[in-house]
This record gives sequence, structure tokens and C-alpha cells, in this order.
Amino acid sequence: MFDFLVVGCGFAGITASRILAEKGHKVLIADKRNHIGGNIYDYYNEDGILIHKYGPHIFHTNKEEVWKFLSRFTIWREYQHKVLSYVNGILVPMPINLNTINMLYNTNYDSISINDFFNTVKVNVEEFNNSKDVIVSQVGEELYKLFFEGYTKKQWDMYPYELGKEVTSRVPTRHNRDPRYFTDKYQGMPKHGYTKMVENILEHKNIKVMLNTEYKEIKEEVKYSKIIFTGCIDEFFEEKYGKLPYRSLNFIEETFDKEYYQPVGVVNYPNDYDYTRITEYKYLTGQKNDKTTIMKEISSATGEPYYPIPKPENKKLYSLYKKEAEDAKDVYFLGRLGTYSYMNMDAVVLQALELCENL
Ligand code: FAD
Ligand code: UDP
Repeated sequence: MFDFLVVGCGFAGITASRILAEKGHKVLIADKRNHIGGNIYDYYNEDGILIHKYGPHIFHTNKEEVWKFLSRFTIWREYQHKVLSYVNGILVPMPINLNTINMLYNTNYDSISINDFFNTVKVNVEEFNNSKDVIVSQVGEELYKLFFEGYTKKQWDMYPYELGKEVTSRVPTRHNRDPRYFTDKYQGMPKHGYTKMVENILEHKNIKVMLNTEYKEIKEEVKYSKIIFTGCIDEFFEEKYGKLPYRSLNFIEETFDKEYYQPVGVVNYPNDYDYTRITEYKYLTGQKNDKTTIMKEISSATGEPYYPIPKPENKKLYSLYKKEAEDAKDVYFLGRLGTYSYMNMDAVVLQALELCENL
């Protein structure tokens, strides 16, 4: 008899399992995949390069409790993520910053005069209703088209004006030269990889792990008092209000017989290539090797659900499932799929910590 059945062995499920186990509850955590960690799973490929199976994961947070919790299970490698964008045939810093503008337009702005530039190009937006408004209000139409329109169309098969403002709000505009993708207080990569950190989180006498196990296969077979579900919420309720849309990705991995392939960890392609970005893992992990592995991401309407799609009609549909979830007894939903929200890793961990604090 378990106190909790936790469905999903990603960040949401493992955090919840650990906290509950430490409170003395007996937990069974099950995942349909053949590995732990959900989308943060990493492993050494056949060329010996540590890669992330489900695309690049860089840890960053301003939430001290999340950093403190995870730091019990890993030491960190200092890493500040840098991204370049391939625009007009050159690689320029992304998020757009002072150097991006000077490189693209062959200008010499400094951090004061750049304000004149942005003031000239930016569009006056009265009300921020979508992801295009957010960008044009900062950098104007031309830079919006160069950096955001094509990338977003590829990533979501929608234009920014069709998506909620939270999508492009994730990417700031900078009036200085700061080249980092994130500016959070705590940033880094688990020194021995995410999978090792996940193993450490799950290492507790009150936690049992079952892999290759679909929720439906065991829900009647195992005895438990409560469920924490981190899979798709619409799937849990057998899509009774209709299917929630998710965006998927195909990951193309290539290994080269040279030390490095590109100058930074990630290069974005906001143009007509079929992929949105290329990650070179050695920058993220700090691994030294004569070979290097890159990963191209090509987004897709079908396949594993990776991104909830933030647009008004989907939020409305989700709210029906959310109501159903609130009324359900002894079932709790967590995570990116369980609460249909475009959350980073730290937000997922915090959500799980908070739920388990209150259970
Ligand atoms: P998941 O990791 O998806 O775990 C859910 C688990 O539930 C899965 O393992 C699944 O197999 C299992 N499951 C689902 N249904 C069932 C079922 N019916 N039965 C059994 N098991 C089931 N965040 C950052 O902070 N920084 C980044 O750089 C970053 N990069 C990202 C890049 C990509 C390409 C993607 C897709 C996401 C990225 N994220 C990043 C977000 C991050 O992946 C998520 O916030 C986090 O992994 C979500 O954890 P989760 O537990 O909610 O979901
Ligand atoms: N985006 C873009 N161009 C870029 C980077 C981001 O248009 O070069 C938009 C795009 O819509 C993307 C969103 O901003 O989905 C959020 O970007 P982020 O890098 O946070 O995406 P994630 O890492 O979550 O895939």
C-alpha cells in the first residue's frame, strides 16, 4: 500500500516524491518511458558526448528555495548561457542588445545613444494583447521580422500576433552589452549531469520507481491513497472536453570529428532553415573531447507533447479541465503537462515544493 502514486518521473514528479518521502509517506513513482528524469534526461551518446535527449536544458532561477533544494542533490558547474542568432548572414547576440544593433547596422551606439535608436524604431502599443505587441513595442517592425517572426512561425506554426504575450516576453531586449541569455541570480548545470542529480533525488527508502509503466496499466493494480499526476491533464480526464493542443519537436543529432562546431552553446535560426536552433552540448557541460555533438530542433504538430500552446482558446479549454481537477478527490496535478503551462524547470520545482508543503 502506497500513500502516493506519482505519475511521471520528470522534475515535477521527482520533487514531489522526494518531499513526500521525507515527510514519511510511501511513494510509488511510475513513468511510461524507459528512463528517469522526464525531459531533463541526459546521457552519454555512442561517441561519449554527454547530451540532453529532449533538447538543451540550462538551469536558471531567482528562487532561492528551488536553488537550495536542488543543491542538496548536485554540485553545480558555473555556466552562463550565450545564444547567437543567424541574421542577414552574420551571427549576432540574442537577446537583441547594443552589440546586436551595432553589428547589424554597422553603427557605433553606446549605452546612452542606443536609447535614441530604440525610441525611433519602436512602435507605440496601447495594450499588449499578443506576442507581436511585446516585441514591436521595444524594437519595432524590422527587428521583429528579422528575429521573431520567422522563428516563431517555425516553432509554433503561428505568427507572434496569434500567441499569448507570455511567449516572446521570455526574451528581453537589452540596452547594454550583456550577452547572456538569462540574468537570473542562480545559473548553472548539474556538474555530473541531470540524470545523476535525478538519481540522487530519488534515492530514498520511501520511494519506489517503476519505469516502462503507463498510468492506465497500474491504476487498478496498485494500492494507493492519493495520486499526483504530471502527464497531460486532458489525457487523465479522457479528453472529455476535447484534446488540448501541444507542440512537439524532432531532435536531429549529429557528431563531428572536430573539437567545436559553432562559437557558442546555441545558435538560433530565425529564417527559412527547417530547424529553429542548433545546440552544441560541450559548451553547456564543459566536457572536453576531440569530437563534438550538435542537436537541431525541428518543431512539429505531432509527436511527444513538449510545449503547451499559449493562446486564448487553449487556456479556456484548459480551465474546464482545471475545474474538473479541483473537484476531483485525492488527485493533484503538477508540471508543464499537468497544469498546461509553459514553465521553466525552476517553476515546476517550486510548484511541486508548494503543493507538497500543503498536502
Ligand atoms: P516532464 O519532464 O515532461 O515529465 C513528465 C513525465 O510524465 C514524462 O517523463 C512522461 O513520460 C511521463 N508521463 C506522462 N504521461 C504518463 C502516463 N500516462 N503514464 C506514465 N508516465 C507518464 N526549462 C528550463 O528551465 N531551462 C531550459 O533551458 C529549458 N529548455 C527546454 C528545452 C526544450 C526543448 C523543452 C521541451 C523544455 C525545456 N525546458 C527548459 C522546460 C523543462 O523541460 C520543463 O520545465 C520540465 O522538464 C518539466 O518537468 P515536468 O515534470 O513537468 O514534465
Ligand atoms: N523567439 C524568437 N526568436 C528567437 C528566440 C525566441 O522568435 O531567436 C520567440 C519564439 O516564439 C520562442 C519564444 O520567443 O518560442 C521563447 O523563446 P525561448 O528561447 O524562451 O524558447 P524555449 O527555450 O522555451 O524553446
